[in-house]
Amino acid sequence: MSDFHAHAACQCTSLAENEIGAVALCPQCGVVTLRLQYISLRFEAEAFERVASLVLQAQARLGHVPPFRPLVGDRADGADLRGDEAAFKPH
Ligand SMILES: [Zn+2]
Repeated sequence: MSDFHAHAACQCTSLAENEIGAVALCPQCGVVTLRLQYISLRFEAEAFERVASLVLQAQARLGHVPPFRPLVGDRADGADLRGDEAAFKPH
């Protein structure tokens, strides 16, 4: 095993959380853990900063992308959007 797993019993402190996940820090080993629904990613603090920067850059560019609309089902009224030309407009 590498040093990455050296601290087997992390006592993480929450840094942030919302409806899709959470970020926590282990003050003993400095590992930052990003938890999403089914996955948990562990980073050294510097690597996490780079990931956060990457996500922020991507988010800044999202302003140029039309809002997401599902192409298939899953609407409250049961309508199936397949074949709905208005649902997908390439740009
Ligand atoms: Zn730890």
